[in-house]
Amino acid sequence: MGSDSLTSTKPLPLPTQEAEEPTNQSTTALLSFDTDCSDSSSSSNPRQKPSTTILFIALLLLTCIALSAAAAFAFLFFSSASSSSAQSSFETTARALKKLEKPVVLLVSSDGFRFGYQFKTSTPNIHRLINNGTEAETGLIPVFPSLTFPNHYSIVTGLYPAYHGIINNHFVDPYTGDTFTMASHEPKWWLGEPLWETVTNHGLKAATYFWPGSEVKKGSWNCPKGFCMNYNGSVPFEDRVDTVLSYFDLPSSEIPSFMTLYFEDPDHQGHKVGPDDPEITEAVARIDRMIGRLIDGIEKRGVFEDVTIIMVGDHGMVGTCDKKLIFLDDLASWIEIPAEWVQSYSPLLAIRPPAGYNPSDIVEKMNEGLKSGKVENGKNLKVYLKGELPSRLHYAASDRIPPIIGLIEEGFKVEQKRTNRKECGGAHGYDNAVFSMRTIFIGHGPQFARGRKVPSFENVQIYNVITSILKIDGAPNNGSSSFPLSILLRTAK
Ligand SMILES: [Zn+2]
Repeated sequence: MGSDSLTSTKPLPLPTQEAEEPTNQSTTALLSFDTDCSDSSSSSNPRQKPSTTILFIALLLLTCIALSAAAAFAFLFFSSASSSSAQSSFETTARALKKLEKPVVLLVSSDGFRFGYQFKTSTPNIHRLINNGTEAETGLIPVFPSLTFPNHYSIVTGLYPAYHGIINNHFVDPYTGDTFTMASHEPKWWLGEPLWETVTNHGLKAATYFWPGSEVKKGSWNCPKGFCMNYNGSVPFEDRVDTVLSYFDLPSSEIPSFMTLYFEDPDHQGHKVGPDDPEITEAVARIDRMIGRLIDGIEKRGVFEDVTIIMVGDHGMVGTCDKKLIFLDDLASWIEIPAEWVQSYSPLLAIRPPAGYNPSDIVEKMNEGLKSGKVENGKNLKVYLKGELPSRLHYAASDRIPPIIGLIEEGFKVEQKRTNRKECGGAHGYDNAVFSMRTIFIGHGPQFARGRKVPSFENVQIYNVITSILKIDGAPNNGSSSFPLSILLRTAK
């Protein structure tokens, strides 16, 4: 998809601690062979003994090649042997709780933590969780649209946005005309049953240090004071971590069974500077320090091996630039799309024409213009009736979703008209099949095997994983009931 250079950021094979050392050794060895070769050939005198020298150089070169190949094969053999032995040594049953009376799950979100950021810089604390826990090897797949509110709410409900109701960060109810924004806390918007509600339904305690939807009083969840924080982005990350840690100082029976912790970074920086800027590296390092603070605090309280920490992001990030724009006004020769019809421009185009217009005709005329070759970047936008979107997007079964949806190629943006604005930054929200939209999943705790890698999965599976760990029945959702068996260790009966 897309021609952005960012697509070339490949998921690096994660070097396990065992595999790291031989890599370094073989690199050093190869370098020293090279040095020997060049030193030897330059020190010989070609004018005195040309044939002997050529033969000598040839032999040296051959020796170098042979030794390099041997080192490379030895490394390949060693690393595959060590990884296969690691595979076979996974535990099969969950580790028993040592200190806590019952399971505790701490769900941590780092907003916009694109899959691969964990390799940008040294992240010893995140890697401590990875190396001793279970990781989605090529990342966690967000739901479409890969935006913050729809995804955070999918993680805690197990529902696709069409079913949990938060179909965008901003949208209009077609019946009432009311507008949803990220500050809307009325329960009517928030469908489904989020984990804090499921947990309290079972007589257990929950605590939320920020999470979209957590302030909404709904069902058995009344957003209890001291255990449900009202969103305030200026609260230092350290304070958030320390408050969560203070819950572990409560008597064992009072410790919340489910807790959330949310950080706005590195999404915040990603929008400003795109995913490849050093500012992102610094933001990732800071998140790692927060994870370190969290681990240290839990460890000091002697419950690190008992607590389940699940670290996720909501979506990835891709670079955008002013050269990758599509203007709706350029379609005027085919059809005029007034700004009042448009509920969202990028990275998903959402259009609700007034009554009396036929959405099918609009879609047809828009695509005709986009395919004509006469609209700048037109081939990077494809418009659908929502019911005709690829079914894998699950983005149709809600009246809140406008009837016309445009899918935009990775890194492109749709705007109404040309302006003089020049800017490059980052965006997300694109098709969730785009690799740059992936984020991370790391599970660490008694039911996660150490050092295990699992294939990528969609975040709607997480709800059932958490209810399984807490041993409670969850509400019906879009996740598979058998998924937890594929990722969790069995508990002893
Ligand atoms: Zn986000």
